[in-house]
Amino acid sequence: GQGLMAGKRGLILGVANNRSIAWGIAKACADQGAEIALTYQGDAFRKRVEPLVAELGDRAHIAGHCDVTDPESLDAVFDGVAKKWGKLDFVVHAIAFSDKEELDGRYVETTRDNFLRTMDISVFSFTTIAKRAEPLMTDGGSLLTLTYYGAEKVMPHYNVMGVAKAALEASVRYLAVDLGGKGIRVNAISAGPIKTLAASGIGDFRYILKWNEYNAPLKRTVTPEEVGDSGLYFLSDLSRGVTGEVHHVDSGYHVVGMKAVDAPDI
Ligand code: NAD
Repeated sequence: GQGLMAGKRGLILGVANNRSIAWGIAKACADQGAEIALTYQGDAFRKRVEPLVAELGDRAHIAGHCDVTDPESLDAVFDGVAKKWGKLDFVVHAIAFSDKEELDGRYVETTRDNFLRTMDISVFSFTTIAKRAEPLMTDGGSLLTLTYYGAEKVMPHYNVMGVAKAALEASVRYLAVDLGGKGIRVNAISAGPIKTLAASGIGDFRYILKWNEYNAPLKRTVTPEEVGDSGLYFLSDLSRGVTGEVHHVDSGYHVVGMKAVDAPDI
């Protein structure tokens, strides 16, 4: 095969539909010759993921159901990958969850139950996936997760998810050290706001999109395809000297310190 990803095999977790960031990454990798396996979360998503996998033809297959709160489903996915491929070159973790009720209003109101569930699904899952991928990455590998600027600065309504993303970004650094000796790299993309299913749970999301359009240096938001192309850099050998990094793909929003003088009122 030809392309930046020729000969590479990767598992991608977190495709819900054709607007998912994980789907943007999957397409970018498949276009460059990667073979990919996709998981779905329950039967409701299977119906959406199956036609997407079909679009990629023989480059992609379904690795099965995966709910990260159910370790047996993770075992089954990794057993399946081990049987089919015997090794793994990359993994994409594009999974996050928090109760919608708590992505509105004040962070201080967060309940213990939702705090723990948010951390389990959005943070611990990346670590347990890294642990499962490690023995399969016999020629080294690349792990990539998705984060958001709400980890660094307070963003309206991001609340407990911001706290979880801060922990996820710290996990990237600890995992980079743990796995670096085996040539396994661990990085995150901090994506600007994109209208996906997960984002629809965040209060006033349209306002956040508009704010980014007016104030980001590129004066627009980013697309899943753009995040996918940046993902390609981390998953391919182009980034072979890079690990432990949190890379912003956000039209430059993170460098701005103040509302643009010419930004209209929203
Ligand atoms: P999405 O809804 O398309 O994807 C979220 C995925 O998480 C879904 O596929 C869902 O099945 C999966 N998921 C949730 N709970 C799960 C569980 N218990 N087990 C397994 N899978 C589970 O939305 P997206 O915006 O593409 O989100 C992907 C990642 O990108 C998330 O980590 C999100 O926080 C991050 N991100 C999104 C934005 C944005 O504005 N959309 C910005 C920065 C970072």
